Amino acid sequence: MKTVAGHTARKRFGQNFLVSPGIIRRIVDAIGPRPGDTIVEIGPGLGAITEPLLERIDHLHVVEIDRDLIARLQSRFPPERLSIHEGDALEFDFGALKGAGPLKIVGNLPYNISSPLLFHLVRFAPLVHDMHFMLQKEVVDRMVAEPGSKDFGRLSVMLQYRYHMERLFIVPPGSFNPPPKVDSAIVRMIPVDYSRVMQSGIPGDGAGDTAKDPALFARVVTAAFSQRRKMLRNTLREFIGEADLAALGITPTARAEDIAVADYVRLANALADLAR
Ligand code: SAM
Repeated sequence: MKTVAGHTARKRFGQNFLVSPGIIRRIVDAIGPRPGDTIVEIGPGLGAITEPLLERIDHLHVVEIDRDLIARLQSRFPPERLSIHEGDALEFDFGALKGAGPLKIVGNLPYNISSPLLFHLVRFAPLVHDMHFMLQKEVVDRMVAEPGSKDFGRLSVMLQYRYHMERLFIVPPGSFNPPPKVDSAIVRMIPVDYSRVMQSGIPGDGAGDTAKDPALFARVVTAAFSQRRKMLRNTLREFIGEADLAALGITPTARAEDIAVADYVRLANALADLAR
């Protein structure tokens, strides 16, 4: 059991606390908080990011599951500066925080729930301005992977369809206490639709059209990557025949990792049209 600043770090809550002032500064600079922003931090822990964020903005929301840490945060920050939402971020309704403007969501995320949390957050994407997360480097590499890479998978397609994503920098284990076993990385995620509205010079969305039937899109992507070494004509057999696949411009002998996010959207939309 590792004790950090008088708190016993709980493995089951993925507690690796940031202790490097240089890394903390870089993370807060990347977030770029501005007065009036509505920011929510997932897993504030001992406040490593919370405190420098509150130096730059008037008010912050945090979602934390560990009661011991909540008690410490309550004694350190007044409620008019910090709104503490006790509970599981996987069940948290981020829509309830919408407030004055779009949300900025940040956090050094508990690694054991990172994928389900990213999928939970997708449903709030229309309310979000941007998100900055620390995750295992290996997960970030999968999120930002390009077609043709061994890291390109279901996570890449489902998230790239929704967000522009950028790996900002790598964070070594020694920046934490206790140190995790692997490297971490900071990722920036900007919802696609929002950037379109903003026309802020962010590169094109790369995802093509939106999926007409998001559930069908998700099923197609899951089926394609269910056996990633198999050809699409086999993994997608229950959805579409080989000739129709080719007619959509998708090589039937290609594998799931070979085709682009826009190809998955086009495929799912063609299937949605057929089902009408
Ligand atoms: N932000 C702090 C830092 O950077 O030092 C702590 C980061 S630590 C990696 C993850 C934090 O998320 C811990 O405070 C942990 O208690 C909290 N946490 C774990 N599971 C959670 C969940 N399901 N919902 C909300 N918070 C959670």
